[in-house]
Amino acid sequence: MNAPTQNSWLEAVADDIQDPAEQKAKALKIERETHKLEKRLCRQVGQAISEFNMIEEGDRIMVCMSGGKDSYGMLDILLKMKARAPVNFELIAVNLDQKQPGFPAEILPAYLKKMDIPFHIETQDTYSIVKDKIPEGKTMCSLCSRLRRGILYKVAGQLKCNKLALGHHRDDMLQTFFLNMFFGGKLKGMPPKLLSDNGEFMVIRPLAHVAEADLARWAEHRQFPIIPCTLCGSQDNLQRVQIGNMIREWQKKFPGRIENMFSALQHVVPSHLMDPELHDFKNLKITGKPNPEGDKAFDVESFEAPKVMAGLQGVQVVQL
Ligand code: SF4
Repeated sequence: MNAPTQNSWLEAVADDIQDPAEQKAKALKIERETHKLEKRLCRQVGQAISEFNMIEEGDRIMVCMSGGKDSYGMLDILLKMKARAPVNFELIAVNLDQKQPGFPAEILPAYLKKMDIPFHIETQDTYSIVKDKIPEGKTMCSLCSRLRRGILYKVAGQLKCNKLALGHHRDDMLQTFFLNMFFGGKLKGMPPKLLSDNGEFMVIRPLAHVAEADLARWAEHRQFPIIPCTLCGSQDNLQRVQIGNMIREWQKKFPGRIENMFSALQHVVPSHLMDPELHDFKNLKITGKPNPEGDKAFDVESFEAPKVMAGLQGVQVVQL
C-alpha cells in the first residue's frame, strides 16, 4: 500500500522536469492547486452539512466504505471536518465484504488501521446469493444493493450508529435525476439526506456539492489504495454510463451546464410544473391583485449566458 500523504504529482513533476528552477516553480504551483482543492472540498462538504443539518452533537456516524475513490475521499474530508467542528460526533468506517471473487479483503483494514480510524468489516456472502438467484446475463445490481442495504442497516444498529454517510457526489445525483426522468417518468433525484426505509436511521450524503473530478484528483493526491469496482462481474449499469457520458458531453459543449442543472435541483418551482399534488391548480383563482413575482404568461423568458460563456466571442445563447 502506498503512503496516503505523499503527493504523487510532485514525484511525477520531479521525474519529468530537468531544470531545478522550473521544477521548483511547477512543484509550488501543484502544491497551491492541491491546497485550493482541499479547501474547496472542505468548504463544499461543510456547506452540505450545514445546509441540510446533516451532523449534530452526539451523532455516531457509520461511514460506508466501498474502497472506491469517493468513499475514501468522504472519510478523509469528514475526519478533517471532525477535527474542527464545533460539535462532537463520532465516525466509524464500515466496509461490507460481499465475498466477490478476488476482493482484496486486506486493503481497507490495513489502510484504516494505519490511519488510526475506528472501523468494522462486515463479511456476508451476498455474492453467492445473487449469483444463485439471478439468471446468467441479467443485471444483479438491484438484488445485490437491496441485500447490502439491509445488512448495512443491521450493522448500523449493532454499532449503535444513528446516521449512515454515503459517498455519492454531485454527478451521481445529477445522473440519478436524469435516469428517473428518462426511464422512470419521474422528477426525482438522490436526496442529500433521507430517513432510512425502516425509519431508524438518517442517511446523509456529505459529498452532495462535490464534483466527481475533484474526488478523483484528491484520491490521486492522497494515493488512496483503491479497490476496483468490477469484481462482481456485473456489467456497469449501461444506462447510468450513457447518462454520465451525456452530461459530460454537454459540459464540454456548454461549460457551466452541470452547475446550472445542479442549481436547478435546488430551486424547484412547483407552480410551473404539472404535479397537482404539489400545486393546487384546480383551486387556483383570479385574485385581481398584481404579483410582481407572478408569471408573465405571455412573455418569452430570456436566459443570461453563463459567466464562463459570456466572455466568449461568437457564442450565442439559444433558447431551447
Ligand atoms: S455492481 Fe456488483 S457489487 Fe455493485 S451493486 Fe451491482 S452487483 Fe452489486
